[in-house]
Amino acid sequence: MKRLLAGIPALIYLTGVFILFNSCHKKNEIQPPPVISPTVSPIPFSLLVYLVTPTDKTINYDYYNAAKTAVQKLQSWFKTQMGNNKTFVLNPVVVDTLTGLHESNWYNTNHGPAISGDTYAYYNIKYEMKELLGSKFDTSLYTYFVYVSTSIPDETIPKGLAIGGADILSTIATSNTAMGVEAHALGHAFGLPEPAVPTSNGIMSGGVAKWPNCIFTSEEKDSLNASPFFKVQ
Ligand SMILES: [Zn+2]
Repeated sequence: MKRLLAGIPALIYLTGVFILFNSCHKKNEIQPPPVISPTVSPIPFSLLVYLVTPTDKTINYDYYNAAKTAVQKLQSWFKTQMGNNKTFVLNPVVVDTLTGLHESNWYNTNHGPAISGDTYAYYNIKYEMKELLGSKFDTSLYTYFVYVSTSIPDETIPKGLAIGGADILSTIATSNTAMGVEAHALGHAFGLPEPAVPTSNGIMSGGVAKWPNCIFTSEEKDSLNASPFFKVQ
């Protein structure tokens, strides 16, 4: 009996070594790429999320997975904020992928007012989405969140489109501030402006870095509540 008991710590140790070895082994396996079904007939008044890969890059599945997790987290955070079981309707595909029409540098370059407006990364991406989707790009029926796998500045303005770049995609899985930046961008995409009187904990003003412990004001919630993109679900 004593010998048997004495053997137990060794057994626990060996089991631990095996689990450790096995989990390390699994990490080194190449994960198969996710199955992504293209969006054909999107649900009217839904959020469509795209990951655009510039022509000089290959698709980054870590970015894809990060964007997918982030937008689902945002959908439940908006629901908690609204307090009436409403949140935005999300495309069942969650994140769709597109190959861009330009190299990385194009997205981060000012191409003059006809393409780049006064907020160049934002309008460059809007310009490209119109080229990619044609008449299907419709901000009256859909709200867009477009991630591009290259470094771009955080530029978000109301409304119809939120953008994000590689800096956000590479940090969003671990950074609440990055999530706050995305929640703020999405607030703009659903039509919310910066408030006239900033608050320290408002997601549309000083509360970005406090995500998830920041809020929409009651006026902002009224605005989202009246939006056709928000439904009980
Ligand atoms: Zn803003």
